[in-house]
Amino acid sequence: MKLAIELLGWVSIVLNLVGNEMLGRKRTGGWPVRLAANAGWMAYSISVFAWPLFVNHIVFTISNSRGWWQWHRQDRARRSIQADTACVCRCPGCVANGAD
Ligand SMILES: [Zn+2]
Repeated sequence: MKLAIELLGWVSIVLNLVGNEMLGRKRTGGWPVRLAANAGWMAYSISVFAWPLFVNHIVFTISNSRGWWQWHRQDRARRSIQADTACVCRCPGCVANGAD
């Protein structure tokens, strides 16, 4: 169990780094990767009773969700001007509506 928890921590670090790198390159896929990293950190912090870390990743989850929402809104605004261009926000709402 201890090994599984430690592995979860390392996987979460990798997801953090990959998600940040993707967002730095303006790749929308970085948002779900970041959200997965936050979920990993929350599970990890519960496992080791690290409550400040848990709160930290609740805050990051809210912040990352808002960031993705901002990209969605900007993409909506862009597409209202350039109607024939594809959706690039790739948020769950747009994907479900077949906007891609
Ligand atoms: Zn969207």
